[in-house]
Amino acid sequence: MLGRVKRMLLVGTLLGFLFVLAAVVSGTDEVGPTGPPPLLLVSFDGFRADYLKRFPMPNLKSLYSQGVLVEQMTNVFVTKTFPNHYSLVTGLYAESHGIMASNMYDPDTNKHFHISNNTDPSWWNEAEPLWITALDSGYKTAAMMWPGSDVLIHNRTATHYFSYNPHMTFRERVGNVTKWMKGDGKEEGVKFAALYWEQPDITGHRYGPENTTMMSQGLKEVDDDIGLLISELKMAGLWGQINVIITSDHGMTQCSPDRLIQLDKCLGPDNYTLVDLTPVAALIPKQNTTAVFNLLKNCHSHMTAYLKESIPERLHYRNNHRVQPIILVADEGWTIVQTGNVLHRLGDHGYDNSLPSMHPFLAAVGPSFRQGYRIGSIETVDIYPLMCHLLSVNGRPNNGTLSHTRCMMAGEKCWDVPLVVGLVVGVLLLLSSVTVLFRFLGRRRPQSIRDFQRLNIDDDDDDPLLE
Ligand code: AMP
Ligand code: ZN
Ligand code: ZN
Repeated sequence: MLGRVKRMLLVGTLLGFLFVLAAVVSGTDEVGPTGPPPLLLVSFDGFRADYLKRFPMPNLKSLYSQGVLVEQMTNVFVTKTFPNHYSLVTGLYAESHGIMASNMYDPDTNKHFHISNNTDPSWWNEAEPLWITALDSGYKTAAMMWPGSDVLIHNRTATHYFSYNPHMTFRERVGNVTKWMKGDGKEEGVKFAALYWEQPDITGHRYGPENTTMMSQGLKEVDDDIGLLISELKMAGLWGQINVIITSDHGMTQCSPDRLIQLDKCLGPDNYTLVDLTPVAALIPKQNTTAVFNLLKNCHSHMTAYLKESIPERLHYRNNHRVQPIILVADEGWTIVQTGNVLHRLGDHGYDNSLPSMHPFLAAVGPSFRQGYRIGSIETVDIYPLMCHLLSVNGRPNNGTLSHTRCMMAGEKCWDVPLVVGLVVGVLLLLSSVTVLFRFLGRRRPQSIRDFQRLNIDDDDDDPLLE
């Protein structure tokens, strides 16, 4: 008996040893994915939310039918490329991350920023993008042409990045990103990658979003690119293993030469220094700020002038030294020019972020997302805490709210607002029907008792025994 137990123990130990040995040996060959699933964030610049309703986009629709669709997203003011891309990866409003516009002036450093001259770290260091913060969790990261990718932010870059090159095709960008995400067999792939593509923004500017023929061509190309992305991820064995978020920075609206606001009709250009022009102009008056402001305040019925300190709180655009003393905001579809009557872009963005035409969308798919789920709206700043949660990264302080996106995730307990409202309405309806029924019965009951008593009395009257 004792001998049999000893033999079993020996065999067990041997098997355990072999199992551990096999794991160690296979581990030296290939490192399997550890921790949460990797995350790929893709931005298609200038993808207005309602393009999804106006154009077919079969690949994109098939992607979010297996995952989540956020129908529209309230982005940050100003609704331009650089501020919103930095908000997506920091969770901060422009006043907090410091990338206020495409053209900026910093009075502290006396430096100028333009999107074609943007790699000076001082502009970006007020915040830290996720591809840097995630390095502290021991992850590898990648940033493919995302605004800020090639900047030494807090003295670091993503593990992999490419300097901006507008001529690099979507296929080449996706090829590199999938290679980085896959790893090389010996080392684990990147845990977080951000990928940027210029379309459909370019088409939207050139023709305007109301040009259905040209937009449908542009969006067909975007949808083909999404198809390419899916098939590349499938070929790399990543599809279904990683989480993918596809989103954008802003929408687009139609402009017209009939909707020009000419500044020189109100104020000569010698009176101010122009930092940015349209649809949100930033001005530094050369002398009397109040006098300049008074002239601009009544300049055009489709343009609102603000002194820096009176910029509405809801825009989150006041508390930064890079905001100039006066800003002018054009109404939707209006273009500010200094002089002349030339309209350079038939479509534009940058307007008030409360306008639906300025809103992008979001689609997400992968093991951490619910399937076939739809929500009406979230904010651009909410994506950062969601991504940190998905990656188990300790995020930096931000303006986003995780509870806004909790329902998008599989296996999360959440208050599904439409469901809760539906339940409350259902219960209220049931209660009121029951109350009405009881009232009705209550009114009928005494009547029937009276009938019954009357019948009884009548019966008694007829009872010969009682006579
Ligand atoms: P906008 O429509 O003016 O807000 O900016 C969009 C344009 O910014 C794109 O069409 C690109 O030409 C340019 N752009 C995007 N990313 C970068 C980058 N990382 N560096 C320089 N230019 C960029
Ligand atoms: Zn953009
Ligand atoms: Zn644009």
